[in-house]
Amino acid sequence: TTPEDWTRSDQYHNSFLLAEDQILDAVLENSSANGLPDIAVSAAQGKFLSLLASSIGAKKILEVGTLGGYSTIWLARALPADGELITLEYSEKHAKVAQENIERAGLSSKVKIMVGLGHDSLLQLHPDIPFDLVFIDADKPSNVKYFTEAKRLVRKGGVIIVDNVVRYARVADPEYTSPNVEGVRDLLKAIKGDTEVDATTIATVGDKGYDGFFVCYSEVEASKAYG
Ligand code: SAM
Repeated sequence: TTPEDWTRSDQYHNSFLLAEDQILDAVLENSSANGLPDIAVSAAQGKFLSLLASSIGAKKILEVGTLGGYSTIWLARALPADGELITLEYSEKHAKVAQENIERAGLSSKVKIMVGLGHDSLLQLHPDIPFDLVFIDADKPSNVKYFTEAKRLVRKGGVIIVDNVVRYARVADPEYTSPNVEGVRDLLKAIKGDTEVDATTIATVGDKGYDGFFVCYSEVEASKAYG
């Protein structure tokens, strides 16, 4: 199989399962026109995130790594009328484009973008009600730092998803030692033996190539870990 086969495969499945979506098409066009890199989740992955958020009845979602707001919009669409999503982005330019896109999607009343280093923003968060779902998709070397704060902020029975944890099987290949690969390895090492979470890696293939999500279920009350 070639990368084109996997793109075709995604398109085939999407043609049955995903509706035409002019808003998301316009979001991707606007992101591209503003020079943002083409590194958002795929449509099928975005829908997976949305379905997951709906499945657990998420009312509060936290995202680390906004880019142009594509995954943000998928996630925010799963929220009820009184739901909220906070998304953290370092780049002012990305945040500006994301704000435009979120407004275009009619979701600005539910979504707040915090501009700054993801870890600094996470440390500022002490919500009265913990988050139901956290999606981590920013600079990979910071995975462990983000995950530690996500654990503090997510409710018992809540879910933490980390993107790009397979990386063409390079994470499992000792030949590769890039900071992005090491960031995933550090996360796996940190979680091994952690009794407060239960997790698995789901490898994916599609028009974003070979990669995977880390899906983690929190076994402890967030409030106990607040400090
Ligand atoms: N979640 C987005 C989506 O699927 O539509 C894609 C996010 S993209 C892979 C990663 C984003 O993280 C980029 O916009 C980048 O600017 C941002 N980022 C990188 N380092 C960061 C940091 N230290 N703090 C916060 N955001 C950061």
